Amino acid sequence: MKTIYLDNNATTAVAPEVLSAMLPYLGQLYGNPSSMHSFGGQVGEAVDTAREQVAALLGASPDEIIFTSCGSESDNTAIWSAIQTQPEKHHLITTRVEHPAVLNVMQYWEREGRHVTYLGVDGKGRLDLDEYAEALSEDTALVSIMFANNEVGDIYPIQKMAEMARERGVLFHTDAVQAVGKTPIDLRQLPVDMLSLSGHKIHAPKGIGVLYARKGMRFRPFLRGGHQERGRRAGTENVPYIVGLGMAAKLAHDFMQEERVKVALLRDKLEAGLLERIPDCMVNGDVENRLPNTSNIAFKNVEGEAILLMLDRLGICASSGSACTSGSLEPSHVLRAMGVPFNYAHGSVRLSLSRYTTEDDVAYVLENFPGVIETLRAISPFKN
Ligand code: PLP
Repeated sequence: MKTIYLDNNATTAVAPEVLSAMLPYLGQLYGNPSSMHSFGGQVGEAVDTAREQVAALLGASPDEIIFTSCGSESDNTAIWSAIQTQPEKHHLITTRVEHPAVLNVMQYWEREGRHVTYLGVDGKGRLDLDEYAEALSEDTALVSIMFANNEVGDIYPIQKMAEMARERGVLFHTDAVQAVGKTPIDLRQLPVDMLSLSGHKIHAPKGIGVLYARKGMRFRPFLRGGHQERGRRAGTENVPYIVGLGMAAKLAHDFMQEERVKVALLRDKLEAGLLERIPDCMVNGDVENRLPNTSNIAFKNVEGEAILLMLDRLGICASSGSACTSGSLEPSHVLRAMGVPFNYAHGSVRLSLSRYTTEDDVAYVLENFPGVIETLRAISPFKN
């Protein structure tokens, strides 16, 4: 059975160009980039090139790029660094709709005695800038707000929010794990101090990430040890993965504009087709302002998990807006923060496309998805 992969916000396929770029560094080019000899030196040059490729994608300077092991490490490091360099400040600002890589870290720091403001969202997932302006204070060590939401795809007003933080002299971090490669980001125009990205969301492998740290800012490493990454992240560089991420960044830089348009057209076709064929469903999130590849659709009175299981039998990979925790199917924190009605939130499914999604994939899903909902509604314990 063919796999129709519509779970690209969870992870993406490694691009063939990325794999080819990596292979020599898993084979004969195994030197340590920090070595004095030329065997290691040539590997060091590959790391430099990758750093330049990532910097070019973001409009950053190469020495502002710190390679990490994943998006989660980048998020942890950003928050850690802001707190450690400003021990006199005790307040942090984030949102209720962050990924656990930020949310759980904030909750940790709350237990450690910091005060955290969790900004709320409206029914479409939009933030309230007045609430944000009120929360910013002299005591705020860091604002950490995601660039785009992994579940519903909403894009947040990072330009405006970062400007407001800068006016108040407050550090600003954005978790751009879902946004990089899908929407343009130019750090020459965007006054954020730190930005996280993750390789496996942009067709590089899992286990490689980046933290951008603006030149001149005070920084404290999270991982201490050797002097790699200019003393900002210890550990011998993961050369093959860094090279792979560099190639993935180059592909995103060169082709993002055309891919965005193509992917959004397919996503819109898929979404409109489902809304037309299936009664009692609605789109979650801000359809006017979201990532081009993401569609989160709520089907009234059906279990998201049941939908996923049936889609899986048809070879369709998707993701749901609920998490099965200790037997109770709780809707996700994002949908709860948005106030999506219970009987819709439960039946929410995220479909996320990529450059590899085809017209045939969309046609197959449109042909088969309506039958899944019909079957489940026929046996649903909910009253339809
Ligand atoms: N932040 C967001 C918005 C994400 O979607 C993810 C992964 O799903 C992460 C952080 C964590 O990234 P990683 O899996 O590389 O640790």
